[in-house]
Amino acid sequence: MLYPFQQNPYIRRPPSTDQVRALTEAREPKPAFTRKVIEGGGRTVNLCFQCGTCTGSCPSGRQTAFRIRKLVRRAQLGFEEDVLPSDDLWLCTTCFTCYERCPRGVEIVDIVMALRNLAVRAGHMAEPHRKVAELISKTGHLVSLRDEDKALRGKLGLDETPPTVFSDTKAQEEVVKIASICGFDKLIAEGGK
Ligand code: SF4
Ligand code: SF4
Repeated sequence: MLYPFQQNPYIRRPPSTDQVRALTEAREPKPAFTRKVIEGGGRTVNLCFQCGTCTGSCPSGRQTAFRIRKLVRRAQLGFEEDVLPSDDLWLCTTCFTCYERCPRGVEIVDIVMALRNLAVRAGHMAEPHRKVAELISKTGHLVSLRDEDKALRGKLGLDETPPTVFSDTKAQEEVVKIASICGFDKLIAEGGK
């Protein structure tokens, strides 16, 4: 008798024992983690009934393998070990499309935020996000000003720095101070993977 993987030319190898176990083993839900998500802002996580409207609407999912419905389900089941180290968690652009379309009123972006906060505390953070957070904590702004940008602004007759926190050194110092007092600078230094 041929196994399915032997009949199908596109499946060259049988799944490993670990893969079979991961697919077939039922796992018990872990409500303690779900409670953490709820307490962290994902209060509507248990309202999801897995219709998939969010995934069907998600612009990020059109470009990547990210499926927000799965992320919400794993959060519901409390599968911390799947969710926190997952790269998917950082693929949401927080565009709010799914949030507006969900028929159950699940506050999906709040769930993503709660999960990201828990992930950072557990030492997981996507590197691009960490870099942006580092820039904010050091300069008070998301995007650093390059010398060539300043020169170009000068040529166009504009101030060298735009009217943001960059042009207000006192405000910039305050942002840096706040990041230091609340430990944000240390958190992102330690949180990058
Ligand atoms: S649209 Fe709402 S109810 Fe449907 S799967 Fe997404 S979160 Fe769940
Ligand atoms: S908020 Fe995030 S998950 Fe929802 S549609 Fe936008 S990118 Fe996708």
